[in-house]
Amino acid sequence: MSARPYTREELRAVGDSMPSRGKLCSRCERFIPEFAELTPEAEARIRELLRNQRPVTAVQELRAVTGCSLAWAKLWVEHVYPWPATRPGPPCPSCGQPLATARAKMCIKCGARFTPAVPPQTRSVE
Ligand SMILES: [Zn+2]
Ligand SMILES: [Zn+2]
Repeated sequence: MSARPYTREELRAVGDSMPSRGKLCSRCERFIPEFAELTPEAEARIRELLRNQRPVTAVQELRAVTGCSLAWAKLWVEHVYPWPATRPGPPCPSCGQPLATARAKMCIKCGARFTPAVPPQTRSVE
C-alpha cells in the first residue's frame, strides 16, 4: 500500500473521487490523504486554526495550500483534529456544560476562561 502524498496535478485529475491512498482510518474506513504541497508550516497554521475552533478557515487554508477539493479538505481536517469534537472535553468548571475540546481554554457556553487541566494531545490521526 502506497501512502505517497498527492501532488497538485493529481488532485486536479481525481475530480470527485475520494482518496485511494493515505492513512486508512479504522473508524470510517476511508483513506486520509497526504498532500505533497502541505508544508510543516502550513500544517501548523491549519492546526492552529482548528485549535482556535475555526474549521471553515482551516478547510479554506488547506485547499489554498494543496489545491485539493472541498470534500478532501473536510476529510483531512476531520481526521487531523476531532472537530466537531468527537470526544467532548471535560465539563466547564463554571457552568458544567461539556467543553468543545479537552484543551479548551475558554467555555463557549458561558465565556469562562481557565487553564486546561488535560495535557495537550500530540496527534489524533488514526
Ligand atoms: Zn475516519
Ligand atoms: Zn461554562
